[in-house]
Amino acid sequence: MRRIHPMKQKPAKLTFWGVRGSTPTLERYTWRYGGNTPCLELMAPEGTRFVLDCGTGLRPLGNHWSARMGSEGVDAHILVTHYHWDHIQGIPFFHPFFEAQNKFHFYSFQSKHLGVDSLRKVFEAQLSSPYFPVDVSMMTASREFNEVSGGQSWDIGKTKVTAGWLNHPQGCLGYRIDTTGGSIVYATDNEPGVPECDRNIRQLAQGADVLIYDAQYSPEQLASERRGWGHSSWLEGVKIARECRVRNLVLFHHDPDSTDRGVDGFLSAARQEFPSTWAAAEGMTITMDDHGVDVAMRESRIGQRRRLRYMATVSGQTEDGKSFEEKATVRDISIQGAYICLNSRPRLQSELRVLIETNGEPQRSAAISLRANVVHFEDGAEKNQVGVGVVFVEEPEARRSRD
Ligand SMILES: [Zn+2]
Ligand SMILES: [Zn+2]
Repeated sequence: MRRIHPMKQKPAKLTFWGVRGSTPTLERYTWRYGGNTPCLELMAPEGTRFVLDCGTGLRPLGNHWSARMGSEGVDAHILVTHYHWDHIQGIPFFHPFFEAQNKFHFYSFQSKHLGVDSLRKVFEAQLSSPYFPVDVSMMTASREFNEVSGGQSWDIGKTKVTAGWLNHPQGCLGYRIDTTGGSIVYATDNEPGVPECDRNIRQLAQGADVLIYDAQYSPEQLASERRGWGHSSWLEGVKIARECRVRNLVLFHHDPDSTDRGVDGFLSAARQEFPSTWAAAEGMTITMDDHGVDVAMRESRIGQRRRLRYMATVSGQTEDGKSFEEKATVRDISIQGAYICLNSRPRLQSELRVLIETNGEPQRSAAISLRANVVHFEDGAEKNQVGVGVVFVEEPEARRSRD
């Protein structure tokens, strides 16, 4: 007798394309978590596409779709939380809006500052003269605008969306999205302390698989100089996650002045209180199905890898919080740059070749050859020499050989 297995359902998949609050950052110390402003992509198990917010992360999402789907049309539902720059600034740079085969359904609230059709007006304003080279008539994709409000709930395919008002200057909506694979709550740009909004967020977050929450400031900043700016901290996120029995908390909307190490600090403080906490990073994905939630990171975008074999002792903490230490082989290494003392003074922004002698593996050629770009000088750092700062750049052949 043939056993009939129920078709295994695909998981829901959430991808972070922008995680930075307020304004994009390019500083080196923000690269690891990423500098693009809010934009998330959610694919429901049955294939319905959602985009949450249109910050500058929307541009790389558009490029990803164009590369993956070519001329095949895209149909997507875009939920916008509010109209601050960091949540709408990706709009003019999203290629799929300029392609006639695509179809978009927008959901956002009527702002008292913009009136009826607020989001449509935002599109027109962003592409108006003299702020942008082409006007909104160049956006040939079909666009349908839906006005929604806090307390409302509606279905999109098999997914249920619920909106709730948060406490943020000029208004902001949080969204709960219940897919057939799991539930996420996107609650960014919220300052605690207004009872009605504190209740709203708890209603949205009740029992959610994933709560994405505004953790821009430290609890100390939130209590002092940043009170009234409309944001929150990891500590508030932890409180809500605990009270509402959320399964995973994701710290989001990192301050533009927060370094990667600073975000690391918020994350480890939050994990002391609520172990299932993550800090949102560009390229992070969360998949959800009946078996639970899985969080993953894509390969580092700044890694220029050199194949090496070094023995190393690695120690750290396992997923379930136990300490470990073991011998391991390091097989490749990512190198950002170097500081070299030279008799010559190379031209700034010119290329150098750097051959580093190694004695790691006697039977093979004992040298690493690296291409570098001169980015910095320090005169007089060494007697009669110039200190040269270089950043290593990728070899053309290395780029071909990687994925
Ligand atoms: Zn924001
Ligand atoms: Zn805002």
